[in-house]
Amino acid sequence: MADRTEEIRSCWKKMNDEQINGAYNFSCGYLSFLNSVKTEREAAEFIAGAALSRGFEPLEQVTAIHPGQKILFRSKGKVCGLAVIGEDMEAGFNLVASHIDSPRLDLKPRPLYEMDGLALFKTHYYGGIKKYQWVAMPLALHGVAVKKDGSVIKIVLGEAHDDFNFTITDLLPHLAKDQMEKKMSEAVKGEDLNIIVGSRPGDKEKDPVKQQIADLIKEQYGLEEDDFVSAELQLVPALAAREIGLDRSMIGAYGQDDRICAYTSLMAALEVEKPARTALCLFVDKEEIGSMGNTGLQSLIIENITAELLHKAGRGDYYTVRKVLANSAALSADVNAAVDPNYPEVFEKMNCSFMGQGIVISKYGGSRGKYDSNDANPEFLGKIRKLFDDNQVVWQVGELGKVDLGGGGTVAQYMAHYGMEVVDCGVALLGMHSPFEVTSKADVYMAYKAYKAFLQQF
Ligand code: MN
Ligand code: MN
Repeated sequence: MADRTEEIRSCWKKMNDEQINGAYNFSCGYLSFLNSVKTEREAAEFIAGAALSRGFEPLEQVTAIHPGQKILFRSKGKVCGLAVIGEDMEAGFNLVASHIDSPRLDLKPRPLYEMDGLALFKTHYYGGIKKYQWVAMPLALHGVAVKKDGSVIKIVLGEAHDDFNFTITDLLPHLAKDQMEKKMSEAVKGEDLNIIVGSRPGDKEKDPVKQQIADLIKEQYGLEEDDFVSAELQLVPALAAREIGLDRSMIGAYGQDDRICAYTSLMAALEVEKPARTALCLFVDKEEIGSMGNTGLQSLIIENITAELLHKAGRGDYYTVRKVLANSAALSADVNAAVDPNYPEVFEKMNCSFMGQGIVISKYGGSRGKYDSNDANPEFLGKIRKLFDDNQVVWQVGELGKVDLGGGGTVAQYMAHYGMEVVDCGVALLGMHSPFEVTSKADVYMAYKAYKAFLQQF
């Protein structure tokens, strides 16, 4: 096997002092973003706020289109798009798409019950989690509930340092003999991820703890029990994003898959000026559950934005919409797994990605013989390599683990569907889908530089 140390691969070694300072400075904004944004709705709000403050016009207010114009698209409070109009719209768009949803625990429509003197919330997990990772740690509750009159109640509980938290208890080792002999996938069951929300009984005879909590929820937050039916309330780790390591070279936080690509592409899109081809930076929902629903990329979001932009430019006919989509080029901005020294057996080190070695280009993903994968065209990859090299973007190749060990998908195939060129291109991280994922500040910075080069000048 070739030795990867035979040439310098570390991003840190390839950066000069100015770039290293740039990477550390850039990470400050990223840390505060991670601490203020833990759901797709919060991310969409952050993105829209940043775009509006930087001169992007809401698409619904746009009447005419001109080169250099900056436009903000929003949908359902969970999808955003930033467009910077190019010289020739029919030449196609340069599209970067990331997802802003992350694995978590969602409250069920009828969550509240009492058992053994405790009030609890029932949950249904969202996305691919290892369930045992979600017990015995502080959780915060984020989301919205919609009343019958349409009014929206926003909830963020458990983030301020003196706020209360929620938690799911784990079984004590003394009584865990049977549990410890189970498979890890069965040791903690989905239906057992119940959240402790109270323990103090009120005056009611039946379920006094539950009733007391229900009264408290109504009094403090204006929510009736039925309002949970029309709510999106999510339990996320109540952990702050932190610098990791004595050298502070890494970031540890919940939800970096895929808000790392969302934040870096947002920062890039905000700086794009007068591109030759229209730059479109898209932030979507539902990737972690298969990109379904009308906020996921299996819906017609890309087509609808393209049609609306072209319509407002006076060229919204069917043929032109199809041609622009097919002429476009895209980066599917999503994370890949970094080689983990604790689990070397799952990685093939010639082709897997490493922490701190730059942004990852993954030609294909999928599983069992590239099944379900967008296998990017080499002609397109050649151009991407040149773009990155010309712009001092440090990059590496990536493959999601050894052949046939597992696999995973991204939104790449839903963009390729339109005929556009697409490749997966994002950041390598450790502990993907865990409550505390770890990334390298150097890679975060390279992702920003890569997306900026692609949006501005591909
Ligand atoms: Mn992802
Ligand atoms: Mn994921």
